Amino acid sequence: MNEEDTTLPLSLLVSRRVIEETVSRLAAQISDDYREKHLVAVGVLKGAFIFMADLVRQIDVPLEIDFVTVSSYGSGTNSSRTITMHQDITTDVSGKDVLVIEDIVDTGHTLCYLADHLKARGARSVRLCALADKPSRREQDVTIDYLGFTVPDQFVVGYGLDFDNRFRYLPDIYALEAHHDQG
Ligand code: 5GP
Repeated sequence: MNEEDTTLPLSLLVSRRVIEETVSRLAAQISDDYREKHLVAVGVLKGAFIFMADLVRQIDVPLEIDFVTVSSYGSGTNSSRTITMHQDITTDVSGKDVLVIEDIVDTGHTLCYLADHLKARGARSVRLCALADKPSRREQDVTIDYLGFTVPDQFVVGYGLDFDNRFRYLPDIYALEAHHDQG
């Protein structure tokens, strides 16, 4: 970890060894389920980039890869939360089986929005894969078809996840202590 990043209090939550085992388990399940399908993995940037890279290298069925960049703004209530799509997929997903790859599910608004969006683009099926879930914060009912692990209601960083664009490069996942602004 670089020196500047040691100024905030981080506590180890999920070690790289546990992450590695989790990614292998998810990749095995996905490979089994998509053998006869036309898989398109859609990563949600930026947070999912490391998870996605590790996961797709362990999936042993052919797949296409694309990305979306989205951000979510609002007070956290159903009525006021807005998801903005900054970069859409360029792959034609009509008639294909889309798997959305997300770093962490919090309120659920982002995945709900993406599932609707990708179905509207003609995908034959849309399933969701998330490395981490914070179920205590859910506002939208989403089914995570492939889930790594649940985490407590804390802000987490590392393994692609940032705080103010910092910490993404850390190989383990940490809780950022005493951080309350989950924007
Ligand atoms: P949702 O729409 O489910 O509320 O938000 C999901 C997005 O919020 C994630 O893709 C992620 O970018 C961000 N997010 C939610 N919780 C955390 C967290 O604990 N740490 C980080 N770094 N991002 C989070």
